[in-house]
Amino acid sequence: MSTYLCTACGKEVAAPELWFNQAGQPFHHACYGQRFGSNAVVVRDIDMPFGSMVSFILKWSIAAIPAILIFAFVGFVLGSCYGAMVP
Ligand SMILES: [Zn+2]
Repeated sequence: MSTYLCTACGKEVAAPELWFNQAGQPFHHACYGQRFGSNAVVVRDIDMPFGSMVSFILKWSIAAIPAILIFAFVGFVLGSCYGAMVP
């Protein structure tokens, strides 16, 4: 197994923190973010208790209702416009 040395801080990079720039140079993900001002987040894994996941998905579903209404309204307006073109 090969090890990588961080281009920014020079220390060895453990696999979960390993990050490559576009030139293929290895970085710690945090070092890369510090050097280049990126606050992007990479999600590698989610470990969530079952109960939390249930309440999270319930909240997510309820929060989706306004978005669904907006899409329905847009679909209604567009559908009406195209419907009016049909002879
Ligand atoms: Zn580093």
